[in-house]
Amino acid sequence: MNAIRSAKDLIAAGLATPEQQAGIEAVAERYAVAISPAIAELIDRGDADDPIAKQFVPDMRELTTLPEEHDDPIGDLAHSPVEGIVHRYPDRVLLKAVHVCPVYCRFCFRREMVGPQGLGTLSPEAMDKAIGYIADHPEIWEVILTGGDPLILSPRRLAEMMERLKAIPHVKIVRFHTRVPVVEPERIDDALVAALKASGKTTYLAVHANHPREFSEAARAAVTRLADAGIALISQTVLLKGINDDAEVLAELMRTFVELRVKPYYLHHPDLAPGTSHFRVSIEAGQALVVGLRGRVSGLAQPTYILDIPGGYGKAVIAPGSIRATGDGCYSVRDFRGGEHTYRDVV
Ligand code: SF4
Repeated sequence: MNAIRSAKDLIAAGLATPEQQAGIEAVAERYAVAISPAIAELIDRGDADDPIAKQFVPDMRELTTLPEEHDDPIGDLAHSPVEGIVHRYPDRVLLKAVHVCPVYCRFCFRREMVGPQGLGTLSPEAMDKAIGYIADHPEIWEVILTGGDPLILSPRRLAEMMERLKAIPHVKIVRFHTRVPVVEPERIDDALVAALKASGKTTYLAVHANHPREFSEAARAAVTRLADAGIALISQTVLLKGINDDAEVLAELMRTFVELRVKPYYLHHPDLAPGTSHFRVSIEAGQALVVGLRGRVSGLAQPTYILDIPGGYGKAVIAPGSIRATGDGCYSVRDFRGGEHTYRDVV
């Protein structure tokens, strides 16, 4: 079975009706579409509110962009000294080697950059410059591979990249952010796991999942393979209306992570990405969910609720008590340098 990539594929797979074809085609012209076979299998065709379908099947509401929404909602471009690098915080950089993913999440915060028409894969020359930038900045302790999904690269290319990072003494941590263990678990084989490791460096891998049903048997086996190989695992979840804005669902998701040796790390407030307002919950609702989690699950299973401050100012913790409401639906949030910003809660 191949990935679903068009309105016709969606109709053939029973994930859309012929009446929806024109609308889906309009969305697909603007934003990339892909649903992996593993994800297509998890979707309950009889449930109009299926939480997996909502994450991946295009929706006409994506064609509505609010004035507050931005093409670059977390401000990557403002901190990109060379192609492929985002240097926002002093001790770490993002290395965006590839802008392709095995699935395209409808709420993606980099939806203007990823996809077949997106920025593609870094050219060898651009990769040389990006690695050179890391080598020239001794303050860089951690390199975070994101994109796109870095685990879509072949084991050979991943191993080559790890070899190059291995040669830079000040880089101690290499972190991968990926959806692959859940959406294409068959990729996590021995060769890929071996490629993620390099002697002298510690590998972390952030598993992105938003609903406990994403953890099929195959996904669980893939995560277990990574954990057994000694790769430190953390989680990443986006808070999404109609998908996981429910304390019981979140509790089950966090417990699943912990059972699989994945330490819950971040619960992201949804970013102001274009055409994603139907996914957004209010900060007030998010904070109530955080309180709900506290009352339900072990401290081991508590993620940190965070907001990426628009404009590239970095992450701010927005758990209850961490930010100040200033009226009119606005909050005062503080960046990691101490700067204060007004954030309008657009729902
Ligand atoms: S896997 Fe990540 S980068 Fe790719 S579409 Fe989903 S959220 Fe965006």
